[in-house]
Amino acid sequence: MKDLKRRHFLQQAGAAPAASAAAALPAMAMQAAAPMGTKPAIKITDIKTFLIGAGSRNWLYVKIYTDQGIHGIGEAYSCGPDEATVKVIEDFKLWLIGQDPRNVQYLFDLMYNTTRFPGGLIVNAAISGIEHALWDITGKAAGLPVWALLGGKVRNKVRVYQSIGGNSPQAAADSAKALVEKYGYTAVKMAPHQNGDGAMAYNMVTRIAGQRVKAVREMVGPDVDIAVDIHARLFEVQRALRIAREIEEYYPFWLEEPIRCENVDAMKKLADHVNIPLASGEANYTKYEFRDLINAQALDIVQPDICLCGGILELKKIAAMAEAQYMMVAPHNPMSPLATVINVHFAASTSNFLILEYHAPDAAPYKDIVNEPLMVKQGYVDVPTKPGWGVELNEEAFRTMPAKAWRRAPSFRADGSVAFI
Ligand SMILES: [Mg+2]
Repeated sequence: MKDLKRRHFLQQAGAAPAASAAAALPAMAMQAAAPMGTKPAIKITDIKTFLIGAGSRNWLYVKIYTDQGIHGIGEAYSCGPDEATVKVIEDFKLWLIGQDPRNVQYLFDLMYNTTRFPGGLIVNAAISGIEHALWDITGKAAGLPVWALLGGKVRNKVRVYQSIGGNSPQAAADSAKALVEKYGYTAVKMAPHQNGDGAMAYNMVTRIAGQRVKAVREMVGPDVDIAVDIHARLFEVQRALRIAREIEEYYPFWLEEPIRCENVDAMKKLADHVNIPLASGEANYTKYEFRDLINAQALDIVQPDICLCGGILELKKIAAMAEAQYMMVAPHNPMSPLATVINVHFAASTSNFLILEYHAPDAAPYKDIVNEPLMVKQGYVDVPTKPGWGVELNEEAFRTMPAKAWRRAPSFRADGSVAFI
């Protein structure tokens, strides 16, 4: 708190000497930790981060400690550079020490509003990871799973899908078959493009998209849903429209990130001309960005990431806005099994939840991260019932998982210009 007060003073009074800052501080209107109902006051005493290497990228965890012996865990999105997100979490820590972690909205406001400028991916990833940990503590303190604090359960189990691999149409079809047979998935997701698409002619990219989706549809049959993810690699609405028309006859579940996310008008124009549900949102954060997409009716399915959009309560708010426009929510979830658990609490308590992105945790590094990862059973995962998230981080495993200096790799077009990834 001392550092926060000093920062606060310096903002108001200019570069005054630190020694006189505390004495000159106006009374701050910070909420004091206080008993809630029959439960005692709780104060945050420390916040730690764990940045670990997980295959091709990193996973970033937040752990918040309290004076009542209760701790909470959360996951921040791996944005690259992940060291920046660690730094922001360490900075927010100075604002949060001494606060009652159960005042989740207040502490979100403290972080978001006091940042002043709307945060980008780093700040919102940091806020999200912290927010998760606050909810975990709140649930544990109340003796309830987090979903019970967010409206209770609206479903008994949560539908999940996994992305397939395979570069050729046949390899993609084989990958889909293997996943559906092994895990009982009722839906999968695929890329319509092959490697090197940035350097291919328009017609070739479009033709390959049709061949790939056709091969997967013929392999899995009519009743497994196939989501198709362009991953915002296209720039022009007309190119996305051509691909949509090429694959429409195979009845995709949705067409994801058909174009980039900056231009809502362009997304709306596309939505008005395709006969496939449009999904997007993994690169957007907070209710404010989703407001434009949702109110423009530019999408059918919104896909916020719970580790990036501002946390589980912010995702609930985005879902409520989408619900009022008859849209569904299919959260983006490429992070670790902890993020999956947190998403399942959202899904369990949200009426317009559709399906969750998922990776079966039956091999390293997925199987090593939490003590009880949620394992898919015939396309669904169970809803945790223990207090808080219901799982704990396996910090022992982190010792052998050093973080990487991870950055996204660029992609180039045939003329040497930089493509979208
Ligand atoms: Mg995606």
